[in-house]
Amino acid sequence: MKILFATSEIAPWVKTGGLGDVAGALPAALRALGHDVRVLVPAYPALLQAFPDAPEIARPHWLGGLLPTPGLRQAVAPDGTPLLLLDYRHYFDRPGNPYLGPEGRDWLDNHLRFGLLSRVAAWLGSEASSLDWVPDVVHCNDWQTGLAPAYLAYRAERPAKSLFTLHNLAFQGLFDHASLFELGLPDAAWSMHGVEFYGHLSFLKAGLQHASAISTVSPSYAREIQTDAEGMGMAGLLRHRADDLTGILNGIDTRDWDPTRDRHLAKHYGPRRIEDKAINKAKLQEEVGLEVRADLPLFAVVSRLTEQKGLDLFLDVAAKTIDLPAQIVVLGSGAHALEHGWNSFAQRHPGRCAVRIGFDEGFAHRIEAGADIFVMPSRFEPCGLNQLYSLRYGTPPVVRATGGLADTVIDAADEKHGNGFVFGPATATALYAALQRAAAAWRDPDIWRRLQKHGMARDSSWAEAAGHYAALYKRLAG
Ligand code: ADP
Repeated sequence: MKILFATSEIAPWVKTGGLGDVAGALPAALRALGHDVRVLVPAYPALLQAFPDAPEIARPHWLGGLLPTPGLRQAVAPDGTPLLLLDYRHYFDRPGNPYLGPEGRDWLDNHLRFGLLSRVAAWLGSEASSLDWVPDVVHCNDWQTGLAPAYLAYRAERPAKSLFTLHNLAFQGLFDHASLFELGLPDAAWSMHGVEFYGHLSFLKAGLQHASAISTVSPSYAREIQTDAEGMGMAGLLRHRADDLTGILNGIDTRDWDPTRDRHLAKHYGPRRIEDKAINKAKLQEEVGLEVRADLPLFAVVSRLTEQKGLDLFLDVAAKTIDLPAQIVVLGSGAHALEHGWNSFAQRHPGRCAVRIGFDEGFAHRIEAGADIFVMPSRFEPCGLNQLYSLRYGTPPVVRATGGLADTVIDAADEKHGNGFVFGPATATALYAALQRAAAAWRDPDIWRRLQKHGMARDSSWAEAAGHYAALYKRLAG
């Protein structure tokens, strides 16, 4: 099968969240199964720097509306995956985050930037393409490539099939009516059955409406988003498309996230040398200025600091948690109020709580290895990757029973399979009860080893997910 994987971010070069990780690992896993997968991604500065000599292989033109003529450059990732770099400097050669300007606000021309990405994905999946490689399926991801299925539907000759994967329903790519013309979409697209969503143009809805099939990143999330409570305005449409909607649980990059050879760690360890995890704990405590104490459980967070992740709930009970007694380390960035709240909490509790605001891959690895218990009280969670890293690093997670968290973490009450702690209501009280249970279990070495063993034995590699995606592509391509 020939698959074009269209994405707005890709690890390790450009990543703001789970999508970057998926784009960095799934294509290689599919290629290992024998499929010809190529990745289309904007040529951000990090990619231009990594592949300075990537030759231009096409110049898609007459794309419609106000869309410019970009270049397409070809490169090959270290894992062998061919990359198609969408090169239009005026749109993508910008500092920082792919979506936000320096002030933390969306770039004003995001509709054109990601409209161009979507349009070129559709161009590659149609007869208009000048390449001799035509994909069977264009695999789109999140709102940034959500218009590709619409372009395939409205503007393509002999279009490829499309799969639209939802990594997060909360980001919907909403723009005003005028963008319909700027993006070169026909007036006919402006309807309830097209790209219009309550008076706006929604990239996300366009994808959900026009893709040949839809997937999301866990079976539980696939069910939850069909309910009015969690469907973020799209539940009706998702229910309507229920027969075309599946949930495929993400894997993780098991080469990158492997405590037996993680290059970021002070000391490697694994299921058979779990006691060496303690060395990483002491190093972590030292690194962040916590009291170096083996006798206190160390709770950890690595996350975007947003409402979704429920870290306001944790902040509400952080003082009680420290009194358990315990320590807390937090790495994250996002909402100002949460950054400020956690920072000032840490200032008031030196030695017991350390907070670092920012995005730091190496530090994230050292936290997974050094902490005892990982905390993820998400209000919703399409899949979640950090609980999977935690399981693999012998750091049992405390999670709310939602989405991918519910599909991967089994409560300690199940002695045969338990690998973490699961709570129900999105309240600080319910979270605190789970934190208390975790701290108590941590004090019992037999229980703790058992939980760690179950977690570390879980196979979170991409192989299984890749098999499911391949089966889905086959079904689509007939
Ligand atoms: P989401 O995509 O909703 O942010 P996921 O758990 O699916 O959540 O993926 C988040 C990814 O981003 C993980 O790989 C996580 O380790 C990483 N991450 C999030 N915040 C940070 C941070 N501040 N520093 C380093 N890595 C981070």
